Order: sequence, then C-alpha cells, then structure tokens
Amino acid sequence: MRIARFTTGEEPSFGVVTGELDEHGQLDEDATVVALAGDPLYVGIKLLDQEHRLADVRLLAPVLPRSKVVGIGRNYAAHAAELGHDLPSSPLMFLKPNTSVVGPGDPVFYPPQTEDLHYEGELAVVIGRICRDVPPEQATDVIFGYTIGNDVTARDLQKSDGQFTRAKGFDSFCPLGPWIETDLDPADFGEGRRVQTFLNGDVVQDGSTADMIFDVPTLVAHVSSVMTLLPGDVILTGTPEGVGPMQVGDEVEVSIAGLGSLTNRIATR
Ligand code: MG
Repeated sequence: MRIARFTTGEEPSFGVVTGELDEHGQLDEDATVVALAGDPLYVGIKLLDQEHRLADVRLLAPVLPRSKVVGIGRNYAAHAAELGHDLPSSPLMFLKPNTSVVGPGDPVFYPPQTEDLHYEGELAVVIGRICRDVPPEQATDVIFGYTIGNDVTARDLQKSDGQFTRAKGFDSFCPLGPWIETDLDPADFGEGRRVQTFLNGDVVQDGSTADMIFDVPTLVAHVSSVMTLLPGDVILTGTPEGVGPMQVGDEVEVSIAGLGSLTNRIATR
C-alpha cells in the first residue's frame, strides 16, 4: 500500500495511492488517491469515501518526523571510497533536523554559505512505533514502510566543519516522498533494489540497495540501541557512489525500483 500526504488546496490529509508503477517509477494517468481519516501512523488505515485523481492533488512530504531524521554515512563502500574514507566498522550516525524535511516538488534552497551543494539519493525507512533496543530480527515489527530521500549536503561545509550538523541541516535539505510504501520488507532491499539519481535527466547515481554495508535491520537495531525511535522518525540508509554538485535551476530526481521517484528543483530563497 502506498500512503501519501496531499492537499487539494485545503487542509492536508493522508491517502492511499492506487495505480501501476512503470519502470521509471511513474504512475499511470488513471492513478488516484483515496483519502484517509487521520494519520495512519496513529489511527491505522481508515478509508474515507473521497477519491481524487492523483493529477489533481499536490503531494506533500508523506511523513513529518515528530522528532528526528537519522542519517547513516558511508553505508556503500564505493561511496566511502569516492570521498576518500575507510569503511566504517559500525554504522556512522548523524541527525538532520525535522525542519529540513520537504516534499516532492518542493524547492531545495541553495544556501549562501556553501559553494558545493550535493545530492545523495537514498532509501528512507519510516518508523511505525515507539521502540528501543530492537533486535535485528524484529526490525520489521517497528517499520511502517519505506520512502525515498535526498540527503542534501553542503560538501564544503561538511569538510570544513568536521561534523555534519550544518552541512546537512539547512531547511529543505531533506526531501522525502512521494509516498510511503508499506508492502516492501528488508529482504527486498537485501536482494537489491536499484537506486538512481538523475540530474536534469542524466543518470548520476546508479546503485543497488544490495550493496549497503549495514542492512536495514542492522541499522534499526544500531540506531535504536542509542536513541528511542518514535512513530514517524526516519532513517536515511546512506547513498551509493556518484554524489556530485547541483546548481540553482537544476532538477534532481531520485528513483528506487518498485517504490517510485522523488523530484525537486534547486532554487534560491
Ligand atoms: Mg547521505
């Protein structure tokens, strides 16, 4: 099931998106969204008798993390190598503020403090319930679903600061969407799902989730051994190789096979 958050110009609501995905992660023209009563993270799936054509609504970030977005750095060997780093011996964690989250189609703002703004296409895990010290074999019990993230990074600030807070924490640096897919599980990603990033239509990242150093259950276990996870918290699972710069006016699209695609444009404020 695909859970989206959307607006028709009035109060945002959640909905279930229907339709068939093509190989480019796009839905057919007849796709619809059926509205839900309340937030399914808290009240479950309660369908309303309200259906819209997907083309007639604006999708929003499918989740607003109540507390945090947890990033994982250097979780693909080839990406660690391209930045000149050794492989981590345990997952490298950082936080992005929930104020960095934006939705599909929203602008990503190029801050004046950086001259090297990078895309990082990533699989994002959405947590479904409060949890702590989750064993890897029970990770699926606490995962609500999966969406697509772009871990936008000011690469020059990441290097000069020596840590990640500023480089990854600007408003709009965490596009999420277009919806949360609840029917996939960690085994699907362990077997390999293609993660691609396109810059103005050209493929710039082309990886597979099978190449993660630490898999999804390991990440949930590791993060939850440090901090309690709340419903709606998001774990970004790291990016494959091929990161690179974006300029104002560029269109960046991240697609994950079987999940969909997330597109944003770079803008100035
Ligand atoms: Mg990243």
